[in-house]
Amino acid sequence: MTIEQALWAQSAAEEPISGAFRESTVDVAIIGGGYTGLSCALHCAQAGQTAHVLEAQSVGYGGSGRNVGLVNAGLWLPPAKLVAALGDRGPSFLELFGDAPRQVFEIIEKYQIRCEATREGTIHAAHAPRGMADLQGRFEEWKRLGAPVELLNAGQAAEMTGSPSFAGGLWDQRAGTINPMGYARGLARAAKAEGAEISTGVQVQGLRRVGANWQVETAQGHVTARAVVMATNAYSDALWPGLSKCWQDIHFFQLSTAPLGDLADAILPGKQGLWDTGLIMRSLRKDTEGRLIVGSMGRMFGTPQSGLTMRRAGRILRHMFPDLGPVAFETGWDGTIAMTPDHLPRIVKLDEGLFTPIGYNGRGVTTGTLFGRSMAQMLGGGDPEQLPLPLTTLEPVGLKQLSERFYDLGFTLNQLR
Ligand SMILES: Cc1cc2nc3c(=O)[nH]c(=O)nc-3n(C[C@H](O)[C@H](O)[C@H](O)COP(=O)(O)OP(=O)(O)OC[C@H]3O[C@@H](n4cnc5c(N)ncnc54)[C@H](O)[C@@H]3O)c2cc1C
Repeated sequence: MTIEQALWAQSAAEEPISGAFRESTVDVAIIGGGYTGLSCALHCAQAGQTAHVLEAQSVGYGGSGRNVGLVNAGLWLPPAKLVAALGDRGPSFLELFGDAPRQVFEIIEKYQIRCEATREGTIHAAHAPRGMADLQGRFEEWKRLGAPVELLNAGQAAEMTGSPSFAGGLWDQRAGTINPMGYARGLARAAKAEGAEISTGVQVQGLRRVGANWQVETAQGHVTARAVVMATNAYSDALWPGLSKCWQDIHFFQLSTAPLGDLADAILPGKQGLWDTGLIMRSLRKDTEGRLIVGSMGRMFGTPQSGLTMRRAGRILRHMFPDLGPVAFETGWDGTIAMTPDHLPRIVKLDEGLFTPIGYNGRGVTTGTLFGRSMAQMLGGGDPEQLPLPLTTLEPVGLKQLSERFYDLGFTLNQLR
């Protein structure tokens, strides 16, 4: 099943955005048509800079069209660890990312992006009693910062999720959900409307410095630009040697059911999306049509109708909702998440005028949107010190291949359970 046949592309109210290639000379060339590249293009164009997005496949082909659609505040790390890791930049980063869902929803509102946006929060659910210790810590830290979060006991979690299987949860009311592909297409529509150029089906094959500019080379011709943003993240190819060695590829599958009607009324009745504290994380949410979308770490094996992953998804649903009965899956897909060893994203300066934001650790709806905007601001003459993070150089992950194989094997074995 291609990503265009999977749920988010099929159900997105926003039409696919595509564009033919033509050679151009622009302020900013952007490689990759996901949230980072599209937000960068949108904010460049809004500020009067010319921008050209070159996407090898289609808008939202990468993580941006494949994710769970949880628009979460903060990052993977809890607030105190984040501040400790970022030092001086910690407090401002935390403030920016605590407010990040609101900023994403503001863009959705401004450009009337039809992406099934809900703002009822998300639930970080405790898969077992030991998961509550982590959630308790996160709750206290966010509460101290004045965030609207609530710690749920098992009974409250059961009421909000419809599942008796969780030991509790952390409900973050700043967060929400979207149709991820709808958001990507909507950003592309908005960027185009502001004057950015978007070309799809155009793989960038080389980057060459010509005088003060970059020549961005494709099989169809080239784009000349003062600056380049590589917004290729976990879907980076061999364009920049060594780039994809800077994170671990973690695979995550999702399957969607048919609309379940009354059967799903008691499941997530408040429209929150959830993910859990398990080592092999699971996710669950509904769409506006009443489909359940269930996911977990690992690749998609087989089809939505048969095979290892379909059976695993069925078992997750049976465990969460013993009374639900058998449900059929309609679509299934997987995607790649760029995980860094310290769970922090990076904004890498590859060369003069050439930048790449990477390693969003599964928090890309907000990080891609905000980092794309920050790149646009910096390239429009802003102070690099105002970026959310200091610019860094490439830092390859040690034992990348070995650890990826280890995780892959673990996730696959887990699907047999
Ligand atoms: C299964 C899954 C679940 C996730 N769940 C969530 C979630 O619930 N919430 C959340 O916030 N985040 C989530 N994430 C993370 C989030 O989806 C990503 O961090 C985010 O989409 C990254 O956006 P991006 O624009 O940086 O990169 P991408 O969206 O991956 O886009 C990169 C693009 O670059 C293109 N490209 C690559 N090489 C070239 C080239 N040489 N020339 C031209 N184009 C090229 C690719 O085709 C691709 O479209 C999830 C990710 C996955 C995979």
